[in-house]
Amino acid sequence: MAANIIDGKAFAATVREKVAGHVARLKEEHDITPGLAVVLVGEDPASQVYVRSKGKQTVEVGMNSFEHKLDADTSEADLLAVVDKLNNDPTVHGILVQLPLPGHLNEDLIINSIAPEKDVDGFHISNVGLLGTGQKSMVPCTPLGCLMMLRDYHGSLSGMDAVVIGRSNIVGKPMAQLLLGDSCTVTIAHSRTKDLPEVVRRADIVVAAVGRPEMVPGDWIKEGATVIDVGINRIERDGKNKLVGDVDFASAAERAGAITPVPGGVGPMTIACLLANTVTACCRANGLAEPEGLTA
Ligand code: NAD
Repeated sequence: MAANIIDGKAFAATVREKVAGHVARLKEEHDITPGLAVVLVGEDPASQVYVRSKGKQTVEVGMNSFEHKLDADTSEADLLAVVDKLNNDPTVHGILVQLPLPGHLNEDLIINSIAPEKDVDGFHISNVGLLGTGQKSMVPCTPLGCLMMLRDYHGSLSGMDAVVIGRSNIVGKPMAQLLLGDSCTVTIAHSRTKDLPEVVRRADIVVAAVGRPEMVPGDWIKEGATVIDVGINRIERDGKNKLVGDVDFASAAERAGAITPVPGGVGPMTIACLLANTVTACCRANGLAEPEGLTA
C-alpha cells in the first residue's frame, strides 16, 4: 500500500489564508490589527532563523509584528520587565518568548509571567491546566497543527487508538490531551516504555515526537495507520546534509494509510498555528467571535 502524503506545506498555506482573511475583517469591521510580539534573548542561530521567519509570516498575513532582541546577558529582572510591558500593551495580542533561553534565566518563571490570554505558545501553566481539564485555552502550536491535519484527513477521530511517542511539555503531553479531547484512546510512550514496537503496532494514529532520526521503522506501523512525524533531525547521508523525521519514511509509507513527510509535514504548520493563535487571542481580547477551524 502506498500511503497518502499529508502535505503540511499546502495545508499551512490554507491556514495562513484563513488567518489573513480574518485579520482583514478585523481591520475593516472593527479597526483592530492583531499584534504578535516575539522576544529573543541572545544569538542562538536556530532561534534567530525561527524568529525571522515568524516575523515575516506575521506581516504577510497583515498582522503587526513586534520584535524585541535582547543581549544574551540580559538579567531576569530586565526580561520580566519587557514581558510586563507587553502584557500591558493593548496593541499586543500574542507574546512569544523564544526558547531555549540562556542558562541563567529561569524558563518556567519567564513563561509563567506572560499573561495567559496572550500566551500564544500555550506553555503557561494556566493554559496547560485549562487544556488538561478540557477548557478553552491557548494550545501549543505544534500539536495544534498535528490535530488540524488529523481532523482534516479523518473528519472525526472518535474511538481511534492513538499512540504518541514522546512526553515533552511542548509536544507529547499536549498532543495526548488534544487527542483525548477528540475522543481517541491515547497511549503516551516514552524512553522507558516496554516493547515500543508492539505498542506502536496497535495504533490507528501514530504521532512521533522524539528527536531520533528514523527510529520508527515501517514494520512497527499497522497497515493503514496515519503517521504524523514531528521529529526534525539533521543528518549526513551520502556526504550531504539532510533533514529526516523520527519515522523511516520510505518503509512506513509502504504500510501507512497516510503520512506526513519531513520536511514539508508538521514543520510548516507550527508557525501557521502561531498566527492562528494570535488572531484567536485578539478576538478573545476584544470579545469577538473566534475564527472557525483555527482552534482546538
Ligand atoms: P524532547 O527531547 O523534549 O522530548 C523527547 C521525548 O522523546 C521525551 O519525552 C523522551 O521520553 C522520548 N524519547 C526519547 N528517547 C526515546 C526512545 N528511545 N523511545 C521512545 N521515546 C523516547 O523533544 P521535543 O521538544 O518534544 O521534540 C521532539 C522532536 O520534535 C525533535 O526532533 C524536535 O526537533 C521536533 N519538533 C518539531 C517541531 C516542529 O515544528 N515540527 C516542533 C517542536 C519539536
